[in-house]
Amino acid sequence: MTTQQTETDAIEGARRLTEVAAMTAENAIASASRLTEGGRLIDEHQVHAQRIAQLATESRAAAELLGYAEGQTATGTADTIAEEHAFVFAAEVVHKLRGAIEADPDTFGLDLSIREQLEDPDVRSMVRAGVAEARVRAIGARVIEARGASATELDDPVANLTRDTARSFARTEVLPIAQDMHRQDLLVPEDLIQKMAGLGLFGCSVPESYGGTEMGYLTMVVLTEELSTVSLVAGSLITRSEILTRALLQGGTEEQRQTWLPRIATGELLVGICVTEPDVGSDVASVTCKAVPGEHEGRKGWFIEGPKAWSTFAGRADILALLARTDPDVSLGNRGLSLFIVPKEPYDGHHFEHTQPEGGTLTGTANPTPGYRGMHSFTLAFDRYFVPEENLVGGEAGLGRGFYLQMGGFSAGRLQTGGRATGVAQASLEKACNYASDRKQFGRPIADYQLTQHKIGRMATHVAAGRHLTYAAARAMQTDERVSPSAQARADMEAAMCKLFASDVAIWVSQEAQLIHGGWGYSEEDPVARYVVDALVLPIYEGVKPILELKVIARQLLAGGR
Ligand SMILES: Cc1cc2nc3c(=O)[nH]c(=O)nc-3n(C[C@H](O)[C@H](O)[C@H](O)COP(=O)(O)OP(=O)(O)OC[C@H]3O[C@@H](n4cnc5c(N)ncnc54)[C@H](O)[C@@H]3O)c2cc1C
Repeated sequence: MTTQQTETDAIEGARRLTEVAAMTAENAIASASRLTEGGRLIDEHQVHAQRIAQLATESRAAAELLGYAEGQTATGTADTIAEEHAFVFAAEVVHKLRGAIEADPDTFGLDLSIREQLEDPDVRSMVRAGVAEARVRAIGARVIEARGASATELDDPVANLTRDTARSFARTEVLPIAQDMHRQDLLVPEDLIQKMAGLGLFGCSVPESYGGTEMGYLTMVVLTEELSTVSLVAGSLITRSEILTRALLQGGTEEQRQTWLPRIATGELLVGICVTEPDVGSDVASVTCKAVPGEHEGRKGWFIEGPKAWSTFAGRADILALLARTDPDVSLGNRGLSLFIVPKEPYDGHHFEHTQPEGGTLTGTANPTPGYRGMHSFTLAFDRYFVPEENLVGGEAGLGRGFYLQMGGFSAGRLQTGGRATGVAQASLEKACNYASDRKQFGRPIADYQLTQHKIGRMATHVAAGRHLTYAAARAMQTDERVSPSAQARADMEAAMCKLFASDVAIWVSQEAQLIHGGWGYSEEDPVARYVVDALVLPIYEGVKPILELKVIARQLLAGGR
């Protein structure tokens, strides 16, 4: 490192560069908003809109890393590694920003004052100091010494306590079965589900008045992260309950909340989500599976007819949250969709056929997948499947509101995915550090090599960025969601941002960890090979990555919702 690079104070550098990143992002968003007429013309500028979503997300992650480091200093527990993470990450973000703008200055259309900031000699020199390889290697060496363990402090006592409990639960109850569950594609054992239910984990976001533990979103995310560090499947068991819980809280009738939430909270009812269809993925407004009003033996209700695809856990689930077309007028798009709670019998295995007493049938076949095993994701066919009228979420008022309720539910799922992704990334980081410390080549542990340290330094910095972005999104959802519709929309966008960023981090970090294991990382016997295939699913569900970028994040940003 040059003298100037060593002398740059990490927290000062992080502050300055985070500020530059935030100002640039804000200016780029304003310019893109004009270009796309407030987001109306996103589809004519998709590539640029995606860039905006990415840079806004990364700039926010930099701000959250800095906020954490500053918070530690303010409470007298200054954390030098957090300060280094904040500086190095902010420098990477500004470095990337400058490259992107340099490649396409006309489309970015930044104000002169912002371009001058980016070209300011002090800023340039800080960027060089932040991305200096020796600085990143130094982080890597410290992380390897700690074997990748995260020392992140939580200012919330409930979240802190829950993290300890979840960590020890994951190590004692999940670790012994995680690898077998994956390799043999087994359904998650009932015993584990019951133990998680006993801890109240299915009711994290259910208010106490409905029998839940109401731990709050931060606690939910933290415990998800801990479970996912050992097994993505264990960390994913509560996802569907979280999605339906939020939909019921946002749009269920009081009677429905009282009927369903207590049973979801205790784990008596496990949930599957049915949105996707064989021919309908991202374009949810085009859902074809229909619900037709009718009667069975004098009982009013709906007959469900049509296909669904990729419904995770639909075999074992006791109830399915199903989005169906209730208005045959397809020109209504998403306004013709409604959300139903569809009871069924639980089944294990990869195939099931269920005939209702009312005569309707439901068949399901699991799709084989390289990872994310343990819950199985099913293609389903509903044939005149009867659902009583009281199971239409929101009752009469819920007719045509299914899309809105489902998307609200997905926000909770996306937030939880930020936690899941952080867990998988953390597991990969720890595995890489342990392996690199133990494995010797050319007479030295591979951890001693500069390249290994540099890789680990960047991996750790990105894992920390994903973690703090996710925690911030959880806090935002907790505080903002009841304040106003615009605050809720912002919280939903932040949930999408944390999912977007943390999922990318999980994929990249798990693949780097696998490479650090050389050929042994390619062996099915090593958990790192599982982390790689598990991570790949993270940017797909709850809105595949390009849709999240364009239709959730960019749309909200360009409409002025920062
Ligand atoms: C393991 C797994 C579990 C799942 N679990 C569930 C579940 O429990 N319940 C459920 O309902 N679904 C579930 N899904 C489905 C998941 O939500 C969908 O796969 C996802 O929404 C994307 O839909 P699709 O696969 O049809 O892709 P498509 O919508 O066909 O998109 C494919 C690609 O096309 C491109 N694309 C599409 N539209 C646009 C556009 N407007 N602009 C630019 N590019 C575009 C993008 O590159 C995109 O990645 C699961 C999926 C998997 C793999």
